[in-house]
Amino acid sequence: MSGSPAVVMRLVASAYAVAEKAGTIVRKVLHSGELGIVEKTGANDLQTLADRLAQQSICASLSKRFPKITIIGEEDLPSEEIQEDLIETGQSEEILQRSCPPEYSQLKEEEIVVWVDPIDGTKEYTEASRCLHFQAVAQAPHKGLDTPQPHSTALWLLDNVTVLIGIAYGGRAIAGVINQPFYNYKLGAGTQLGRTMWGMLGLGAFGFQLQEVPGDRRIVTTTRSHSNKLVTDCVDSMEPHEVVRVGGAGNKIIQLVEGKASAYVFASPGCKKWDTCAPEAILHAVGGKLTDMHGNAYRYDANVKHMNSAGVLATLRNHEYYVSRVPQSVLQALKSD
Ligand code: AMP
Ligand code: MG
Ligand code: MG
Repeated sequence: MSGSPAVVMRLVASAYAVAEKAGTIVRKVLHSGELGIVEKTGANDLQTLADRLAQQSICASLSKRFPKITIIGEEDLPSEEIQEDLIETGQSEEILQRSCPPEYSQLKEEEIVVWVDPIDGTKEYTEASRCLHFQAVAQAPHKGLDTPQPHSTALWLLDNVTVLIGIAYGGRAIAGVINQPFYNYKLGAGTQLGRTMWGMLGLGAFGFQLQEVPGDRRIVTTTRSHSNKLVTDCVDSMEPHEVVRVGGAGNKIIQLVEGKASAYVFASPGCKKWDTCAPEAILHAVGGKLTDMHGNAYRYDANVKHMNSAGVLATLRNHEYYVSRVPQSVLQALKSD
């Protein structure tokens, strides 16, 4: 490689380190037990201290190094001085060593938009926290050894939590980083928690083993906490062999690329551009597709509407099959932008 790395490669390399730092913040706040939960539009739309600190860390770190890039974060936060220890200056050396796909080698900061979801799956994060807290109380000596732990299964929800940093150019999601802060939590003490996945169009995606659902089995993944009749009707119309209800848009794309699900079907408004930008880029980098329920692409320009009003349909393969199964009632209710 000659000369210094392209701007976009430096950005992805920074986003990788910044997402890891955010993952550390997300773990720290969970362990503190002080989540500082705020309801935004309602009980299923939450913000915690971890969402606030992680977004501050991501946005301040990236804008310090790339001052001309437009950065849009999910959380509405007052603009205030950011604590110095939230700033991450590291970069992934491995990403810096990679050649930039020629079509992106000349991108300027001004042309790039970054979409940030500091925690995707906040609802599940708060539920897992309650479960952990319950266990801590149950294990206190005065409670005795026979205290039941009915919520312990809720710990699986930790896998639903991700940090998403999506990079867009020309209205398209071209690169993305996903940090999964609690990956490996099942292995217990002494294991390094968390992993970071990244991908870029023209380069591929890294940090996981690409796998497909075997044969023509249809496994549909969908929301567990934002369902309604339209959502369930649409899932049924796909004639799935199995339905996997998990939280988070990032986590559902992980299900697709790791061979746990064949389609992510969400026939409802609710997901926003920061939920889909990074996951879409990683999915597209390995040949998959994310669209609205009509099969139309979303755009990620700085001035677009944040809400993905026409739902989310994502697949690793056979996108056309799933688009063709979407019921008329859904197509009529959810109009493309
Ligand atoms: P889910 O699949 O329900 O975990 O949703 C994926 C992402 O979209 C999460 O970041 C949710 O917060 C967001 N989302 C989906 N539906 C809604 C809704 N009705 N209200 C608020 N956020 C939503
Ligand atoms: Mg989200
Ligand atoms: Mg979020």
